[in-house]
Amino acid sequence: MIREQLTDCPKDKQAEDKLQFGKTFTDHMFVMDYAAGKGWHDARIVPYAPFELDPSSMVLHYGQAIFEGLKAFRDINGRITMFRPRDNFLRMNRSAKRLCIPQIDVDFVMQALVRLIEIEKDWVPSAEGTALYIRPFIIATDPYLGVKVSDTYKFLIILSPSGPYYKNGFQPVSLYVENYYTRAAEGGTGEAKCSGNYAASLIASDKAKELGCDQVLWLDAKEKRYIEEVGSMNMFVVIGGEVLTASLDGTILPGITRDSIIKIFKDKGYKVTERKVSLDEIIGALKENRLDEAFGTGTAAVVSPVGKLRIGDEEYVIGDGKTGKITQMLYDTLTGIQRGKIEDKFGWLYRI
Ligand SMILES: *Cc1c(COP(=O)(O)O)cnc(C)c1O
Repeated sequence: MIREQLTDCPKDKQAEDKLQFGKTFTDHMFVMDYAAGKGWHDARIVPYAPFELDPSSMVLHYGQAIFEGLKAFRDINGRITMFRPRDNFLRMNRSAKRLCIPQIDVDFVMQALVRLIEIEKDWVPSAEGTALYIRPFIIATDPYLGVKVSDTYKFLIILSPSGPYYKNGFQPVSLYVENYYTRAAEGGTGEAKCSGNYAASLIASDKAKELGCDQVLWLDAKEKRYIEEVGSMNMFVVIGGEVLTASLDGTILPGITRDSIIKIFKDKGYKVTERKVSLDEIIGALKENRLDEAFGTGTAAVVSPVGKLRIGDEEYVIGDGKTGKITQMLYDTLTGIQRGKIEDKFGWLYRI
C-alpha cells in the first residue's frame, strides 16, 4: 500500500530549453522507512520538500548510503518510457548488500516508481535529448555515533527534469590519466553505487580541471597499468576493429549503459572482449594508428567521445579530437531505441 498526499500548490515548470541537469525537482517524491524487525514500511508519495534528520544520523557520519540513476523519456509518440528500470533496482540491491543495507522488494519499488511518474507525468519533457532523471537512494538514519550497521533507513525517489547533455552536438572530452589517487581497489566498494566512492573521487576531478582536462581516467589501484573508468562512466576503446572494455572484476561499476552498448556491438557483428586493458596497449595502438575510437558510457551522457588523453606532461590526440563514426552510431542506436525510433529488439523499454 502506498499512501498519497498530493500538493495543492504545484510549482511552475521551466521551459524545456532552459532545463539543466539535476537542479530542479518535481512536485512529489516517494519515501519509505525501514526498521529492523519491522522491515520497509510507511510507503508514501508526498510533496517534494526538505525533511528532518537527527544530526547524529549515521549516514552523516559514516556514509552508509547508496543511490541509482535512470531516466524516463517521452518517445516520438508522446508515451512515457523508462530504460531498463528493473536493472537499476537489481543493482541497487547488490550495492545494498555490500554496504549492509537491507534489500528492497524490486516489484514493489517498480510499482512505486510507476505511480510517482504517473502523478508527475506533466514533468516528463519531450524535446530531443531531454529526460526526467530519476534518483532513487537509501540512507542510514539511526541516531547513533557508534560505528555499526544502522537499524533504520530511508528509501527515497526524487525526480529532476533535465535538458539535453549535448546542447551543441557531441563535445569530445579530454581525459587526465590519474596516476596517484585511485577510485576503487580489489575488495573495496568500486562495484557498488555508493556515495562514498564519489566523495573520494572529487580531488582527482579538481586536479583534472586545474590541468585543463574535462574528466579523470582511473587506473587500477594495484599496478596503475590498466584502465578502469572515466569519471563516472565505463570506458571503451576500439583497437583495430575490436571493442575492448574492462572486465567486471570487482572494481568496475557494472553500468547498464555498458551492458547495452556491448549488446548493440555484438548484434552489429563486432568482436567485443571484456578483459584488463592496459594504458600501454592504448598508447601503442595510438602510435601505430590502430586506436579507432575511445568513449565513455553512462546514463547521463549515453556515450561520451574521448578526444584527448593527458598522461603526465604528454598529450595524445585520438581521432583528430573529433567524434568517431562508431561512437556516433552507438549514440544514434541507443537513443533511437529509447525514443521509439528503432525497434526495441532487446526488450529494454518499460512503457508507462
Ligand atoms: C553509475 C555509474 C556508471 C554508469 O552506469 P549506468 O548504469 O550506465 O548509468 C559508471 N561508473 C560509475 C562509477 C557509476 O557510478
